[in-house]
Amino acid sequence: MNLEGILPFARTLLNTAASEGSAVIDATCGNGNDTLFLSRLVGVSGRVFGFDIQELAIQNTTRRLLEEHAFDNVTLFQAGHHTMKSAIPVHYHGTVAAAIFNLGYLPGGNKEIVTQSDSTIEALEQLFDLLATGGIAVLVIYHGHEQGKKERDAVLEYTRQLDQQKAHVLQYGFINQKNNPPFIVAIEKR
Ligand code: SAM
Repeated sequence: MNLEGILPFARTLLNTAASEGSAVIDATCGNGNDTLFLSRLVGVSGRVFGFDIQELAIQNTTRRLLEEHAFDNVTLFQAGHHTMKSAIPVHYHGTVAAAIFNLGYLPGGNKEIVTQSDSTIEALEQLFDLLATGGIAVLVIYHGHEQGKKERDAVLEYTRQLDQQKAHVLQYGFINQKNNPPFIVAIEKR
């Protein structure tokens, strides 16, 4: 397939917005795959802030980073992403190059613990103040489960009304695939 899949395209966007030395956010660490990717992307002079509400996710992410000998450039918070503005030191505010929200539940974990539309949108509001101009937030939306459908609708409603003078909003997904495939919403701060 020549068209880029959802997860590769998410990384293409992160790669476009962030580089060596950038500050970036993984808003849902889970098993640490995106955290590790971001850690490598921004290098030893960059900084990754990672959030997850589950102790298991923070443990899995910590282990993943250690196993892969990641740079010592990651700060993890066992906290909801709606706390990012107070958690991230003020001198990073307005400098964040990219953030990823891989929404839904922890793969291999408790499927009852899922991201919720209210806190996701609260986090997006806070993130807007943290992003640099040209900074990109990437949301990967999984809408195969009940809460995921609610979150999809709420995120689309919220992002569609963002002032186009302040943000570019992109939707990217395959529209002829069965079983509710995930899709991307990306927001670039203007
Ligand atoms: N990016 C992860 C990876 O690479 O493995 C996968 C993330 S997983 C799809 C979603 C994660 O979001 C779960 O680990 C879940 O605990 C976490 N989560 C749920 N609500 C959250 C919240 N309010 N703030 C931060 N993380 C949350």
